[in-house]
Amino acid sequence: MREVHFAVQAEREYLTQLDAAIGDGDHGTNLARGFAAVVGALDGQDELLPGKALILSGKTLVSTVGGASGPLWGSALRRAGRAMGEAVEFDLPALATAMEAALDGIQDLGAAVPGDKTIVDALTPAVQALRAGADANAAVVEVVGAAAAAAEQGALDTVPMQARKGRASYLGERSIGHKDPGATSTALILRALERAVAAG
Ligand code: ADP
Ligand code: MG
Repeated sequence: MREVHFAVQAEREYLTQLDAAIGDGDHGTNLARGFAAVVGALDGQDELLPGKALILSGKTLVSTVGGASGPLWGSALRRAGRAMGEAVEFDLPALATAMEAALDGIQDLGAAVPGDKTIVDALTPAVQALRAGADANAAVVEVVGAAAAAAEQGALDTVPMQARKGRASYLGERSIGHKDPGATSTALILRALERAVAAG
């Protein structure tokens, strides 16, 4: 969560510019505010189990971010936290399971499918890469790096898409030719996860 906070803070203007092109220009400030609140909430707690920390993070996002991305990532993190249950630590298969639950949470709430030009276009290939790496028993840092690269490619792939969900869908064909802000921040979140895993 700390790494995500740094990443969205650093890329806040870029995310806001992307959202200004096809939305309302608040995506960078939404995530920067939300993850600053998440870090603040986590700092106020004694040692939390990973699952509990994720649930608190999700609740905090929902209560501090007004835009679509708050409830969507809020639901994702709460689902991931529930998937981890009472575990004291987690390995790559458990991380893959948690991220699958996160994606399910986003799709249950927002009803987007791949190709709709949303978070789902970056998160789906990332989750697939995590599961494939877990099944292959590959090294965790490399797998999370591959998942982040898959999310970056997924975000790039949103450029030619026409938005079918969220604010950008109001633009119809005019949403074509722009990179989706939510898919872009999803790739930042996966890179932050990679740094956190690499730091151990
Ligand atoms: P808002 O659109 O309410 O201003 P943000 O600007 O924070 O919220 O987030 C916009 C991003 O949210 C979009 O770029 C898109 O990726 C994502 N998004 C919007 N609706 C959905 C949805 N139904 N499912 C998945 N992601 C969505
Ligand atoms: Mg917006």
